[in-house]
Amino acid sequence: MELTVLGACGTWPGPGQANCGYLVSHEGSHLWMDAGSGTFANLQRHIRVDQISAVLISHGHADHFVDTVSAFYARHYGGLGNPGLPFYSPPDFVEQMCLLVSEGGLDVMRKAFAFTDVKAGSAFQVGPFQVTVFPMEHIGVQAVGYRIEAGGAVLAYSGDTGPSPAVIELARDADLFVCEATYQEASSKYPFHMSAAQAGEHATAAHAKRLLLTHILPTLDPQISASEGASTFSGPVDVAREGVVVGIGS
Ligand SMILES: [Zn+2]
Ligand SMILES: [Zn+2]
Repeated sequence: MELTVLGACGTWPGPGQANCGYLVSHEGSHLWMDAGSGTFANLQRHIRVDQISAVLISHGHADHFVDTVSAFYARHYGGLGNPGLPFYSPPDFVEQMCLLVSEGGLDVMRKAFAFTDVKAGSAFQVGPFQVTVFPMEHIGVQAVGYRIEAGGAVLAYSGDTGPSPAVIELARDADLFVCEATYQEASSKYPFHMSAAQAGEHATAAHAKRLLLTHILPTLDPQISASEGASTFSGPVDVAREGVVVGIGS
């Protein structure tokens, strides 16, 4: 299994950068996991639009889903890919997302995408990927984390969340834990996001093998996030950077 970072900025993109989004690939199947602004353009550096196997969205905040509208245009009007692309997300934002398109909103979006609501504790299969859904602690919307297994490797992705025991369960023994690290120790911290040090604490408690910090605010120095993450986690710590491809497992 491979993870390609399509974008990693938290909340808003810095100059020339993209919000959070990832490509999870195995044996020719590709999950587009979170779709922040800029990630659809970057996705096309790696695969064709018609090669997306499914879309997974962690929650209905625009910095995680807004580029699905661009993908809708490309697939529905541009003919890049078949109708009914599997689309997994928490249930409370798809209707709002559909208001962003004219011509029948939800109806026309439903042609392009086959929407499935996910709930904490549920699981589903996409090609070689077994995906389990965990509840995250966020604000204003239902937010989930995805634990993805394929080829004997485990990838855990927190989406946006504050500190929570569920984050530890999500990342339990994961080969790669992609964890949000919005803040640093000097930041004003709120309970619906985590700092890099808190991400490290959760990775340690979960016995994750490797930690990749993401969703860092673009005004922060990522090197400081990396060192603060390493202060609470003894395994390898990296910062997600656009375009980087990470092999997971053997
Ligand atoms: Zn976010
Ligand atoms: Zn959010």
